[in-house]
Amino acid sequence: MLKKLFFNWKMNPASLSEASSLFTEFISLAQFQPQISLVVLPPYVYLSELNQQLQTSGVTNLKLGAQDLARYSAGAYTGQISGQMLKNMGCQYVLIGHSETREAYQLSHEQINQKLLQSLESGLVPILCVGHQSDKTITEINYPELSEQVTTALQNLPTEWQTEFYLAYEPVWAIGTGKTATNPIIEEVGQFLKQELAKLGLAKQVGILYGGSVDDVSIQELVKLQQIDGFLIGGASLKPEKFKTIAQVVANQV
Ligand code: PEP
Repeated sequence: MLKKLFFNWKMNPASLSEASSLFTEFISLAQFQPQISLVVLPPYVYLSELNQQLQTSGVTNLKLGAQDLARYSAGAYTGQISGQMLKNMGCQYVLIGHSETREAYQLSHEQINQKLLQSLESGLVPILCVGHQSDKTITEINYPELSEQVTTALQNLPTEWQTEFYLAYEPVWAIGTGKTATNPIIEEVGQFLKQELAKLGLAKQVGILYGGSVDDVSIQELVKLQQIDGFLIGGASLKPEKFKTIAQVVANQV
């Protein structure tokens, strides 16, 4: 199966007109590569307009997601955006526990779990991010920390829950640095994460992603990964020539 691509725009671009023209590039990419699934995660404020653009385009292999959601369903939570609001805005996916969000809000494991439960309750597909600073070599992979991040986030799930979800392995030191984890480390961690999910009875619906400096150059090696079902892409998602090359390399994958 071809790898699925998720594009995290982070806090970019600065204006709606720039967001709209960047999104036009994704629409033309989706039309040009109909066999690849693409998900764009823009800032909240652009979702409504981009959803209109998406509906007008008629493309079906490009979807929208959000970069975070509140851990509550509704109420007096100033500044928060609920899962239901995102769903009503045309979102189908939501990032949970991105390392930048974890750090900015000092999120606890319990709070990540609450966000995950909210995403399910709202019918959004969660992309749970895990990873840490240390695992630069095989012997440095911090399995206890990875295990804790996964198992605490996935507590108290509804028993009937069978829908898809994604687990993004993002070594923190590789995000935005131009340095990627090596393929053997990513394969090893991918396998470990699948085992952890199997223990929780969640192996079937999960897709494992890698994120951390995926660009038009690093994708040439990363596309060979066997344990990985897709990529979470940050910086390169703002540069059409880069994300189009990434998609092309994935489309050429045998
Ligand atoms: C990210 O934001 O999740 C990410 C992986 O960023 P970058 O591709 O810029 O490293």
